[in-house]
Parts: sequence; structure tokens; C-alpha cells
Amino acid sequence: MSLQSKTALVTGSTSGIGLAVARALAQQGANVVLNGFGKPDAIEKERAGIESEFGVRAVYSGADMSKGDEIAAMVAEAETTFGAVDILVNNAGIQYVSAIEEFPVEKWDQIIAINLSSAFHTLRAAIPGMKKRGWGRIINTASAHSLVASPYKAAYVAAKHGIAGLTKTAALELATHKITVNCISPGYVWTPLVEAQIPDTMKARGLTKEQVIDEVLLKAQPTKEFVTVDQVAAIAAFLCSDAASQITGSNLTVDGGWTAQ
Ligand code: NAD
Repeated sequence: MSLQSKTALVTGSTSGIGLAVARALAQQGANVVLNGFGKPDAIEKERAGIESEFGVRAVYSGADMSKGDEIAAMVAEAETTFGAVDILVNNAGIQYVSAIEEFPVEKWDQIIAINLSSAFHTLRAAIPGMKKRGWGRIINTASAHSLVASPYKAAYVAAKHGIAGLTKTAALELATHKITVNCISPGYVWTPLVEAQIPDTMKARGLTKEQVIDEVLLKAQPTKEFVTVDQVAAIAAFLCSDAASQITGSNLTVDGGWTAQ
């Protein structure tokens, strides 16, 4: 259990990739701060399950990642509860699919806030403590869309390219502090986020559900298979290990060959 006595804060960890990452880090012995939306009883079940399954402490913060003041308060509360935030995983994210000229302005603002600016707010709150303790791991869930674009996802692609740039900048600023900063860029992972965009993609492109899966989603992935949340979580756990201490400023793709094309 290599992460014993460490604390990991994972944004957007009530579902999908974030939940798998939180569980993988807890399995390595880290205490975890869960965050995200959802039904209170379902969240409590996951939180309590992590504690009993892995013998760590898990707490939940309902902070809204579109609000800078709530983000700062979440990090401060985590530091008060556990004494530190050693591992920060910026993972919360949403999607919206529409042509640019019809893209609702409030959706643009919301996606930039949750998928990009939230990471700026968590970083500025968590970095001072990491620097003081001389150790830290920052992992941002980016996307294949941090490297390449798709039509109808303007805000998401812009935010993910932004998070890749923020990752590199933070890595350079923190390089001599034993704090690494990397992003993981999955291709299509079967999660509620992907499932939820199928109806809008059907509408935007005039396709059936099966056509969206075959001709839009898996078309991009040469392996023709979805990535699993556990495959992404395993990389996050590896990035927290000593073996990964010289990996910083990287953008690790897990995309079945998508961005090799
Ligand atoms: P998901 O919908 O399963 O999970 C998203 C999480 O973010 C949930 O816990 C949700 O409650 C939380 N969230 C949403 N808005 C929030 C807010 N305002 N404040 C706090 N939490 C909020 O989706 P996922 O697929 O697991 O996505 C996680 C991350 O992975 C996102 O950043 C997404 O862009 C990225 N990603 C996903 C895929 C994929 O194919 N699923 C591919 C590449 C990147």
C-alpha cells in the first residue's frame, strides 16, 4: 500500500472515471475526498464502501466545481480534516454537443468553468501545502480532445486543450518541488458522460443510436473498443508512485490509438 498516510482529493468522483480513480487510490492506502453530484444515499454508499473495503478514511464534499469560492473551501476543509492534500485529481467534467452558432452561451461558460477553470482554483488552493510538505501529485483528466478536435464540441475541446496547457505550465512551475503534474487523455470511456451525449449527437448528425456508437464514437478508436474506467484509474495510481517521479508535464493518452491517426 504505497499511498498509506497520503490524502487524495478527486473532483467529480461520484461517478465514472473519478470514482474509479478514487477507489484505485484508496486501494493503495490513501484517504480520499470524494466530490461531485448525485443522490445522497448513493454517494454515502460509495463513501462508506471505500472505507470498509480499503480500510481508509473517505469524506465527501458537495462543492460545485463551477464556483471558485466553493472549490477553495473544499481544499481548505480537506486540509483541516486530513492535514494535507497530497494528491489532487482534477476530473470533474461535463459535455454539451451543438454547432457553434447554436451553442448556448451559458453552456459555454459552464463547461469552461467546470472542465478548465476549476483546475486553476484547486491548484492555487492546494499547491502551497504541497510545496510546504515537499511532495505532491497532480493529475488532470484531459481527453483525446486535448490533442485533436471533433465538430460540435467547441467548449469541451477548448477546455481540454486548455487543461493540457495548464498541466504543462504547472509542471514547470513545480518541477523542483517534488510535485509532478500530468494529464491523462482517454479516448471514449463508457461512462454516464458518454451515454448522455448520444441523444444530442443523434440529433446533431441525424443518426441512430447504433450509428452514433459505431460511426462517431468507436470510429475514432482504431481498437474499436471503449476504454474502461479501471484502465484510466490504473494510470492515475501509477502516476502517484515513486516510479513515476520523473514523469511530469506529460499528456498520457489511453485512447485505443485514436490520436495516432
Ligand atoms: P461522469 O459524468 O461519469 O462523471 C462526471 C463527474 O463530474 C460526476 O461525479 C459529476 O457529479 C461531476 N460533476 C459534474 N459537474 C460538476 C460540478 N459542477 N461540480 C462538481 N462535480 C461535478 O463522466 P466521466 O466520463 O467519468 O468524466 C470524468 C472526466 O473524464 C471528465 O473531465 C471528462 O471530460 C473526462 N473524459 C471522459 C471521457 C469519456 O469517454 N467518458 C473521455 C475523455 C475524458
